[in-house]
Amino acid sequence: MKNKPESSTLTTCPYCGVGCGVEARVSDNRLIAVSGDASHPANNGRLCVKGSALHETAGPEGRLLYPQIQGQRVSWDSALDKVADTFARLIDQHGPDSVAFYLSGQILTEDYYVANKLMKGFIGSANVDTNSRLCMSSAVAGQKRAFGSDTVPACYDDLDEADLVILVGSNAAWAHPILYQRLARAKQARPDMQVVVLDPRRTATCDLADRHLALKPGSDAFLFNGLLSYLAQNDALDDDYIAQHCEGFDAALTQAQQQCPDLMTTAAYCGLEPADVQWLFEHFARTERSLTFYSQGINQSSSGTDKANAIINCHLATGRVGKPGASPFSITGQPNAMGGREVGGLANQLAAHMEFDNPTHLETVADFWQAPKMAQAPGLKAVDLFQAIERGDVKAVWIIGTNPAVSLPDSAQVRRALQQCELVVVSDCVEQTDTTALADVLLPATTWAEKNGTVTNSERRISRQRGFLQAPGEARHDWQIVCDVAARLGFGDAFAYRHPADIFQEHARLSGYRNQGSRDFDISALADLTRNQYDALAPIQWPVTDTSPEGTARMFADGHFFTASGRARLLPIDARMPANPCRDGDFVLNTGRSRDQWHTMTRTARSPRLLDHCDEPYIEISERDAQQQRIHSGDLVSLSALNAEYIGRARVTPNQQPGSLFAPIHWNDRYASHGAVDALVAAVTDPVSGQPELKQSPVRMQGL
Ligand code: SF4
Repeated sequence: MKNKPESSTLTTCPYCGVGCGVEARVSDNRLIAVSGDASHPANNGRLCVKGSALHETAGPEGRLLYPQIQGQRVSWDSALDKVADTFARLIDQHGPDSVAFYLSGQILTEDYYVANKLMKGFIGSANVDTNSRLCMSSAVAGQKRAFGSDTVPACYDDLDEADLVILVGSNAAWAHPILYQRLARAKQARPDMQVVVLDPRRTATCDLADRHLALKPGSDAFLFNGLLSYLAQNDALDDDYIAQHCEGFDAALTQAQQQCPDLMTTAAYCGLEPADVQWLFEHFARTERSLTFYSQGINQSSSGTDKANAIINCHLATGRVGKPGASPFSITGQPNAMGGREVGGLANQLAAHMEFDNPTHLETVADFWQAPKMAQAPGLKAVDLFQAIERGDVKAVWIIGTNPAVSLPDSAQVRRALQQCELVVVSDCVEQTDTTALADVLLPATTWAEKNGTVTNSERRISRQRGFLQAPGEARHDWQIVCDVAARLGFGDAFAYRHPADIFQEHARLSGYRNQGSRDFDISALADLTRNQYDALAPIQWPVTDTSPEGTARMFADGHFFTASGRARLLPIDARMPANPCRDGDFVLNTGRSRDQWHTMTRTARSPRLLDHCDEPYIEISERDAQQQRIHSGDLVSLSALNAEYIGRARVTPNQQPGSLFAPIHWNDRYASHGAVDALVAAVTDPVSGQPELKQSPVRMQGL
């Protein structure tokens, strides 16, 4: 008998940072179909292939159903007692910094909020980091240096309004498909709009581009230094804007001119034709509505923060920040990387975009929480955290909703760390991952279709995720599990939330607490939402205050920034190439997303339709290198580095530069692969943001 839809729920897609609205149709506690939510401004009813297959990935198969200790099923009380008792003992014996949380851009803002509050305000350590460190922390650090706050100035409407769109280090066609499609429609409607892709390889995104500049891997900051230099030489600066709203311009320009004094020098650094560089620079110089859309190709670098600032410098020098169609625009990878940042989900920041290096901020958060033991200094960032675990400095780690044994660089080191860690707690909805295999305590968590809360997308838009299925087995919500442990640690009163709406209200109150417009993140106008209003909350862009109750599309259009002086900062950028240079015989390995898979495939591998696009790991190789190595498309190829090996199927392609390779991040030993590609990536990080260099790793290649 044919299933008939019984109910439908509006929620948000759990995959990428576009944050599309989804209408989920449910029958008999099963998700039977999804469609785009026509009322959601992020997607206006559209979904990409991954989003439209959500109902094929939401079944109960493979779920972690019961708490376990050392692989044995136990009661929730036993599991929670074990976690709380061990944390309490270690904190007592070795201090608060002996324990840590490692969170995920997949969890909800409310989950993030309670974990961050417990660790930073009540345990007294800032060891709360997240897999979002791998995704956008360089963009965060760049924005904070330039604007004095982690603020994305732009909104998706800018894709419709720009006359020049420069996509840097972004394969939006695959990684942010709904934004790419929006841009394609805008270009179709206005063919004069110019689209440029800056990327070492030719990707599907280039199908839309008027020009593709295949720059040398990692050379982006040289190009933007060269652009700043060109703007000054060609009378294309906004002198009034610089004089009224900026500081640091002279030093930034001097550095740019020293490094990239002319087009020829810039072109040589970047491995580009001077004519292509000139075309780009001329267009940027004369196009008021220029939008620079940047993503992981910029962020995942040992100089990612500098690259972000090199881009922002050019926008500040032309006064193009937060104006219609004119901004630097960082696009996040995960659905709630931004929401995590809002509540302090990075080890180097406090809740509500407050900072450790500001005593007033520390005191504000401590007072608001009535925190008995407020952390006073930043904690360990992701890569440093797992190194500290291996050294024995951190003795217990609680991993929530992520798979670091596959996704962190030098994953062999991560596995060693977890194997010898005194207590590894993993909360997850999936039973078998490389990380759950290393857990002492497994806690079954609810997943997308069962959870209630909020997420924030790349344009600062807060949207509701609404649960519509009953959780299987004994799964509980992440926020509830953290609160249960907090109560066992003696902090029950401060964690007595009954509903995610209670957490959201507190989060919103904190954002306005002693704020008075001194911080960017403020949603205090949402602090009094009733549960019904929270349930019905329509997507809205922060800040949401008494003076902007409908939210805020763009930031900084008035030229006021959140630095001490109120002026934006241009930074002198000493552009540099990747930290690990290739030796003779090495290839530069670039890693990234495949179109229809997500992260380590725990969800997307369940959909035959998604596997149809590509069902095995592959390695893209240039025609020249393939010929020299006698490799043909379809051959098995081995990549090796750091004593690790990854095997994939060769794809010989003109899209790849000689000397460079590309491999997708998704496949690992659990999904038809030999090895995980991030095992080949050294744990080299950006000194400012701590983000690993996942895009340019030297590897050896051998045909099999
Ligand atoms: Fe989901 Fe991103 Fe696709 Fe939108 S673009 S449907 S958020 S995966």
